[in-house]
Amino acid sequence: NLTQRLAKVVKTMRGEARLTESNTAEMLREVRMALLEADVALPAVRELIARVKEKAMGEDVIGSLTPGQALVGVVQKELASLIGADLGEGASELNFATQPPAIILMAGLQGAGKTTTVGKLALYLREKKKKKVLTVSADVYRPAAIGQLETVTAQAGADFFPTTINDKPVDIALAALDWAKKHHHEVLIIDTAGRLGIDEAMMQEIAAVHAAVKPIETLFVVDAMLGQDAVNTAKAFNDALPLTGVVLTKLDGDSRGGAALSVRHVTGKPIKFAGVSEKLDGLEAFDATRMANRILGMGDILALVESAQKGMDVEAAKGLAEKIKVGGKFDMNDFKMQLGQMKNMGSLSSLMDKLPAQFQQAASGANMDNAEKQMRRMEGIINSMTPLERAKPDLIKASRKRRIATGAGVQIQEVNRMLAQFDQMQSMMKKLKGGGMMKMMRGLKG
Ligand code: GDP
Ligand code: MG
Repeated sequence: NLTQRLAKVVKTMRGEARLTESNTAEMLREVRMALLEADVALPAVRELIARVKEKAMGEDVIGSLTPGQALVGVVQKELASLIGADLGEGASELNFATQPPAIILMAGLQGAGKTTTVGKLALYLREKKKKKVLTVSADVYRPAAIGQLETVTAQAGADFFPTTINDKPVDIALAALDWAKKHHHEVLIIDTAGRLGIDEAMMQEIAAVHAAVKPIETLFVVDAMLGQDAVNTAKAFNDALPLTGVVLTKLDGDSRGGAALSVRHVTGKPIKFAGVSEKLDGLEAFDATRMANRILGMGDILALVESAQKGMDVEAAKGLAEKIKVGGKFDMNDFKMQLGQMKNMGSLSSLMDKLPAQFQQAASGANMDNAEKQMRRMEGIINSMTPLERAKPDLIKASRKRRIATGAGVQIQEVNRMLAQFDQMQSMMKKLKGGGMMKMMRGLKG
């Protein structure tokens, strides 16, 4: 199973300081399998793996991250960038820079969700963009399809241009355009027919509509559940029409969404929207980073990796890792730094929330609230120590303990307990070789 595969990668702990050919080869194999299982098409997987390899080599494994975590971080970033995170803000915006009406042509197989998406777009454009919207159906093969568009258009509160199955698609488009101009509609959305499979006649028909009205947006609507099959469909439409964007529908289903990467790989066009329900408000601006996380199926373990990267004082963590590796002594100052970094990463319990279920189960024995309180008290105690005492905790005898306890506002027993815990921590750190926040957190529960 995919999540297990990536969890395995994440857990890989070899205490190595950077990603190399040899320590990533096996992990990359797991990543590749995981992506194929997520229904990403092979050529897209190959491109991603090649990019990850290039980016990962020589990358430092910072502080508490394991090589596995670092690699998954790279995979996530590259995947997101391939899906469109690099396109920058506004990549998913519709283009209105034209003489009104701005025409949006919908393309895609039957059942992809075109008609539903027209309704969703009409609602979005009317409510969020304050546009006057007209819709029209050029689906002359199924009378029900025209009725369906009329219904969703009414639900969206937009205007509908009626047609019949005896009209010709190109004539329909031109008549609707004429009407839109006369009635000052700012947007005209043209719904089209789709067949169950790709066929020449369908492609020629929609290409003719495109040529007649020259839409500023030509959106390819594709069902995320199609998985690998999305590739051939996307290629056929991309060859027949100058697509300007993609709408990925049915993401509320249980597909991983691997189609997102495949479709972008073959079309090179931005995915602008995601369909997330049958209802008209079920349309979202496409979020490449979220999609990458979904494809990787890591729950939010990636968010955890990321917050570790953000929260860490990288230089200090590196220094600590070095120190432990060369067998240096782990002292109270290091301890204090580690505690501080845990705080930077957010509360322990919120970190735990981000872990996938199986990890949460493992951690459920721990009382995180308590652990947090305890951490704060420990920090208070360490703050009451002098630098010398922190460097050489062995110096801390009765009178120093009394002074520290008073300074931190705790009982002497608590100082004793903390010193004992520090002892434990110190021996644990010796075994760690390379440091590890997760290991250390596990240590704190006991
Ligand atoms: P068209 O043939 O391309 O026009 O597809 P339709 O708009 O008629 O949609 C086909 C089916 O998919 C309908 O039952 C829709 O309700 C459903 N559908 C469309 N988009 C979504 C979506 O984002 N999520 C879900 N769950 N269903 C959708
Ligand atoms: Mg339809």
